[in-house]
Amino acid sequence: MSVLGIDLGFQNCHIAVARSGGIETIANEYSDRCTPACISLGSRTRAIGNEAKSQIVTNIKNSLHGFKKFHGRALDDPFVISERVKLPYELQKMPNGSAGFKVRYLNEERHFSIEQVTGMLLSKLKETSEHTLKKPVADCVISIPSFFTDGERRSVMYAAQIAGLNCLRLMNETTAVALAYGIYKQDLPSVEEPPRNVVFVDMGHSAYQISVCAFNKGKLKVLATAFDPYLGGRNFDKVLVNYFCKEFMKKYKLNVKENARALLRLNQECEKLKKLMSANTSDLPLNIECFMNDRDVSGKMNRDHFEELSAHLVARVEPPLKAVLEQAKLQREDIYSIEIVGGATRIPVVKDQIAKFFFKDVMTTLNADEAVARGCALQCAILSPAFKVRDFSIIDTVPFAITLRWKSTSEEGTGECEVFCKNHAAPFAKVITFHKKEPFDLEAFYTCPHEVPYPDPRLGLFRIQNVVPQADGDSSKVKVKVHINVHGIFSLSSATMIETQRGEGDHGDLSPMETEPPSKIDTTPVEQDKMLAKQEAGQNKSHGEQPTEAGERAGGAYTNAKDNPSTLSDNHEHSPQSIKDKVRAKSIVLPILRELNRQLGWDLLGSYMENEVKMIMQDKLEKERIDAKNAVEEYVYDLRDKLVGVYEKFITEKDSAKLNIMLEDVEKWLYEEGEDQPKQVYLDKLEGLKKLGQPIQDRYKEYEERPKAFNDLGKKTQFFMKTIEAYMNKDEKYNHLNPTEIENVEKCVRDTINWLSMKMNAQNKLTLSHDPVVKVADIVAKCKEVDSVCNPIIYKAKPQVEQPAEDKANESKQHSSPKTNTEEVTDTEQDAAKDTTHHTKQKAEMEVN
Ligand code: ATP
Ligand code: MG
Repeated sequence: MSVLGIDLGFQNCHIAVARSGGIETIANEYSDRCTPACISLGSRTRAIGNEAKSQIVTNIKNSLHGFKKFHGRALDDPFVISERVKLPYELQKMPNGSAGFKVRYLNEERHFSIEQVTGMLLSKLKETSEHTLKKPVADCVISIPSFFTDGERRSVMYAAQIAGLNCLRLMNETTAVALAYGIYKQDLPSVEEPPRNVVFVDMGHSAYQISVCAFNKGKLKVLATAFDPYLGGRNFDKVLVNYFCKEFMKKYKLNVKENARALLRLNQECEKLKKLMSANTSDLPLNIECFMNDRDVSGKMNRDHFEELSAHLVARVEPPLKAVLEQAKLQREDIYSIEIVGGATRIPVVKDQIAKFFFKDVMTTLNADEAVARGCALQCAILSPAFKVRDFSIIDTVPFAITLRWKSTSEEGTGECEVFCKNHAAPFAKVITFHKKEPFDLEAFYTCPHEVPYPDPRLGLFRIQNVVPQADGDSSKVKVKVHINVHGIFSLSSATMIETQRGEGDHGDLSPMETEPPSKIDTTPVEQDKMLAKQEAGQNKSHGEQPTEAGERAGGAYTNAKDNPSTLSDNHEHSPQSIKDKVRAKSIVLPILRELNRQLGWDLLGSYMENEVKMIMQDKLEKERIDAKNAVEEYVYDLRDKLVGVYEKFITEKDSAKLNIMLEDVEKWLYEEGEDQPKQVYLDKLEGLKKLGQPIQDRYKEYEERPKAFNDLGKKTQFFMKTIEAYMNKDEKYNHLNPTEIENVEKCVRDTINWLSMKMNAQNKLTLSHDPVVKVADIVAKCKEVDSVCNPIIYKAKPQVEQPAEDKANESKQHSSPKTNTEEVTDTEQDAAKDTTHHTKQKAEMEVN
């Protein structure tokens, strides 16, 4: 079983796997460890990754990039609206209102959802890892920004399912980095000591994220996270683009912003320039040939000027750093180290700004590009039963506080309470008890919408059904389990109604909220997700009765409020008294109807999954077709080269001229009628060419290999002739062989020698352009034939003879004499002794014979 860590970046993706006892980052088919987050749809196939990136400018409308942040968003989302105007491709409203993409694929207009597009990218990353590992891959951990809300997280989970991946955890990017940092550290303080606080800063192409983590031996706890979701390397590119747009307008009267292709090219060049400026302070040129209206353009920039232009962006570096320390209630001096990752932290002014804030140098202990993927792979290995990883506990945080609001149709009153505060430990589950007589609704929403980079604060509506009063007409106790799962997604995982038959001493109070530690709550996240998807599609009809015994705590802080679960409290231990006062209780599992934000129905998800499989198949068929076409082209060029090279003597001049004309015809055909043909046509074409080329190639190959084959057979016959001679000369080595057998050997060898000289003579009379009289395979077969006749005779073992008793006694004497002095016997002497024994034995055998 393989485990995979995926850094799903806005611009770049990285994948890492656990292999041979370590974590390895995997390179794609271009030997590149970074796969661009790009998909280019074509008339016959999809290009994904590097190939798609190279088509961005040529296939402008159908090349999708920069889509990571459309996850879980509606087309009319303010962020989508602001991005849309900058995109060279078109967005499309999907049936559920989400932002999707309008492209031409397979010569028709197609609409793809963001889940499908990310699914395509994940499929590619999956294929790359399968290709490297040479086995199927399913289990993975995928990174997401820590500020992703539930809708965005759920959307990425759907994408993983579409790609056929089993996402064991969606991991916050900075948490993955923290894991990659901490798990190898041998010198972390023990659990009794104060923790080591490390700040992790990740500035990628689209976002800026910070987390502060407390490390103890075998343990990492995220204390707080902060972010600027709209600050990244691309903002710095934009500064340069805007500057040069103005410049080119002034200098060349070109309105670059009107021309999508030119704007894209300028963006690419500005990004290159930005990177160059990280290593150079001098003036650097920007030259683009044939930029717009057939004009070349040029400009220049240096670091100082760039920093001046980006001052407004640089000013945004500090606030999240401040915020993260405030939230964690730490001072700068409490920070042991500041570790930076993400491509944009290479911008010197960004790095300086971070260092300036902490009065400390920033560290680049981790690989800035690969740390997220490596952390994810480590997490995947920890979660996978197939790997044994050093125990390392990871406690993440809830990025935004979550509140539950409840109301019933006829019962009076609504209420709300915050169930998870900001930076609450995650994953985590809590149980809330309500007293209700009828079904009621629970609405989850982000407590502080203005802090959340998402327009809709609602997480979902949960309808708790089948609630009825107790037999005595009193309210029923309904326990609702709320949960931040391993993916950081809020869920209302269960609701149970307690039907009590009161006994002595019972007064029916339970803690209003019971908390569960962040234990392994979600061990089968995908199963759960599937279930969620089903439930989301309104198929959850499950309910059942589980008679249980419930121990209830006497004298709790909770008063019998009907519509108020009261204040939250921590886990309570049951007092011995309460155990004595047990009552008969029946837990009835209640059905919950979920209306989640931006959910995909199970049917739609299923159809997306099917479609992805179809598209993979289409890509595979197209690749085979192109490979077949390339094979024809390659054969034509190769054969043509060889006809005037190594094959020249192996074909007559006349035939060579004829063949050359045919090759030229095929080449022409490839560019005209043969440009776009089904795979079989190319296969047939190649077959036809091979019929003509193969005999020449065979003659050449035979010519190259024949001398060795003749030589081998010659040596073999010589060897057997010598053996026969030795036998004739009464060589004692062969005196156990009988004359008839030797005659057989001699006959076989003489026949072979005759065959060999006949074939050699005949072959020597032929020119190289003739087919050979004998094939190498025939000569090799002849060799085998000689062996099969002669070897069993020549190598026949001598019969074993019992040694005369006298000799044995002598021998043991010989061996026993040096025994007293064993230590002084050298290896050589021991060998010599062995040899003597062997000779004596042989002699005895000879004598018997
Ligand atoms: P995100 O984390 O926002 O999803 P990402 O993970 O794809 O995005 P990274 O690969 O970490 O982003 O970083 C890409 C950004 O880093 C780009 O803007 C790129 O131009 C920038 N970058 C890379 N190298 C350098 C460099 N040497 N100097 C300046 N910027 C750089
Ligand atoms: Mg990143």
